[in-house]
Amino acid sequence: LFISFEGLDGAGKTTQLQLLHHWLEQRGVDFLRTREPGGTPLGVEIRRLLLERADLHVTPLAEAFLFQADRAQHFATVIVPALDAGKLVLTDRCFDSSMVYQGAARGLGTDLIRRLSLLAMGGRVPDLTILLDLDPAKVHSRTAEGKDRAHRTHFDQAEEAFHRTLRSAFLALAQAHPERIKVIDASLPPDVVHAHIIALIEPLLQQ
Ligand code: C5P
Ligand code: MG
Repeated sequence: LFISFEGLDGAGKTTQLQLLHHWLEQRGVDFLRTREPGGTPLGVEIRRLLLERADLHVTPLAEAFLFQADRAQHFATVIVPALDAGKLVLTDRCFDSSMVYQGAARGLGTDLIRRLSLLAMGGRVPDLTILLDLDPAKVHSRTAEGKDRAHRTHFDQAEEAFHRTLRSAFLALAQAHPERIKVIDASLPPDVVHAHIIALIEPLLQQ
């Protein structure tokens, strides 16, 4: 069983993965928790290039290939072996993030990104994708907690517009793949979001 978590930064993916981690441990489920980018030693280096080296001016296409290189290594050496060993695999982001960030936001198109992703994944698409959906205005208030909204800069507003594009792209994917992608309202309290996640996952564990 292969489950991915998706959503904007600040939607609560890490918090929810932590809560689920404890829940699974208490039940003795054999699982592997991982993430993209950065789920392998190569991926950690790629993640550093992508997130910390703005000075390299990586082009959108080069960026897309770096995410796919991270993914190819991740699937071949971590995800597929774990699935083949019968483990439940949870990943913090997967190819839907590429569809949204590189495909929609960076303008490379979702068809190209889907083809590259399927190649990198060897066709192993998540069985279930949990999309933590949050209004970008609330993402902003969470990530810049306590910030006086009257003092918001131009940059903040551009960032919020970018997040709105990302959110629409995630929701469009969920609409196109309703059987795989389940949307949860991430503005609900964390324990309520957790309960929704358990309600989705528990029946799959009993199969
Ligand atoms: O969720 P995490 O902190 O691991 O993601 C790191 C950053 O990488 C995110 O803020 C997101 O903007 C970016 N990202 C991306 N394209 C992806 C995955 C993540 O631009 N396919
Ligand atoms: Mg995160």
